[in-house]
Amino acid sequence: MHLEFDVTSCVRATSKFSECTKCVDICPVDTIVIADNNIPAFTPADCINCGGCVGVCPTESFSLSGFSAIEFFFKFLEEDNNELVCQKDLYSCLSTLSVEHLISLALANDKPIIIDAFKCNCGGDSDKLQNQLLANIEEANFILSSISDKQIEIKSLEAKEDKIEETTTPNRRSFLSLKGAIKSKKAFDEAVVADELKEFGIDSIAIAGIKEKRIPDKRKLLFSILKRQPKPTHYDVLAEEDISFTSQKFIDESCTNCQICYRICPTGALSSDNKFSVINFDALMCVKCHLCHDVCEPNSIQLQRGFEIKEFFEPTQRKLAKFNIKRCNECGNYFTYTGGAVECPRCRVEEEEAMELHQNAKKMRNQE
Ligand code: SF4
Ligand code: SF4
Ligand code: SF4
Repeated sequence: MHLEFDVTSCVRATSKFSECTKCVDICPVDTIVIADNNIPAFTPADCINCGGCVGVCPTESFSLSGFSAIEFFFKFLEEDNNELVCQKDLYSCLSTLSVEHLISLALANDKPIIIDAFKCNCGGDSDKLQNQLLANIEEANFILSSISDKQIEIKSLEAKEDKIEETTTPNRRSFLSLKGAIKSKKAFDEAVVADELKEFGIDSIAIAGIKEKRIPDKRKLLFSILKRQPKPTHYDVLAEEDISFTSQKFIDESCTNCQICYRICPTGALSSDNKFSVINFDALMCVKCHLCHDVCEPNSIQLQRGFEIKEFFEPTQRKLAKFNIKRCNECGNYFTYTGGAVECPRCRVEEEEAMELHQNAKKMRNQE
């Protein structure tokens, strides 16, 4: 199992204004850094494959080779299992499972899920991972209490011997120190590459991938599980800060309809029509990556203080802003009309510049 990174999904690749550092902050061995090109980079030899970054990344940019949380989910249900022990049931840290995965597991399982969150010993600063796991469980339980009578229990479980697998992760550092066994030139070359910082650039193929709108698998899973759940008799409103993986928003009157937020939203939660006359928002598609807030120059897009649980069961598309779109009398292009002459901002600027030149020329003629 090793860490993989899809640069096209990372919000930092979408915009240099992104301030996301979730993967950097969770890494227990501090191997993930933000490189000079503003994109995460890591040193494979230092990575302990705990999966902490996999669990926290809102857009699923990080993954562990050979591990799919969705496959794990269905296998877990098929085996009629309800207990999860770190490094035994998942072969990585349980913090690989996001809040959405935990809610989905709890809702889909007939028996209450029991998690042993006390055997956290992945290496490095494992307190970070354990705290993340506990925070994920707490958030999942908080949301579960609003939508069902299910809860996730935390308790110490006995190790399940039949599931224990000897991990034979090679210590690549020992290859490099030449104290370990250098089995082949290929192994040595691989170890050297693994010991270097792996950076990720953006080429033309990556740009095409960045433009694609993608809803993460964990969101699709949660959405399909919620569709099979009975609706609560009443809907709670949760404080915005109590839900980490989605949000509701509003846009204030300072919005200039610059189009940036809905053009770059990685999931398509923010969208417009073919005339760019509205800004629509689907809360169930939002992954709270914060990118739309980071890029909005006038700070017009804001988080709504409460998240309405009703969105989980009766998803709606809300119109956050509506604009008066007119055709410019000068160039014929559509633009956001805010009053006065029917001229787009570009033609207005050009006209102002022409006027200034004309006035300057007149002044110079008068001085002669
Ligand atoms: S989007 Fe994911 S990979 Fe990119 S900076 Fe945020 S957490 Fe890291
Ligand atoms: S909300 Fe901000 S980023 Fe979005 S269109 Fe309005 S001004 Fe631009
Ligand atoms: S609406 Fe904003 S916070 Fe939500 S997914 Fe889109 S860019 Fe991210």
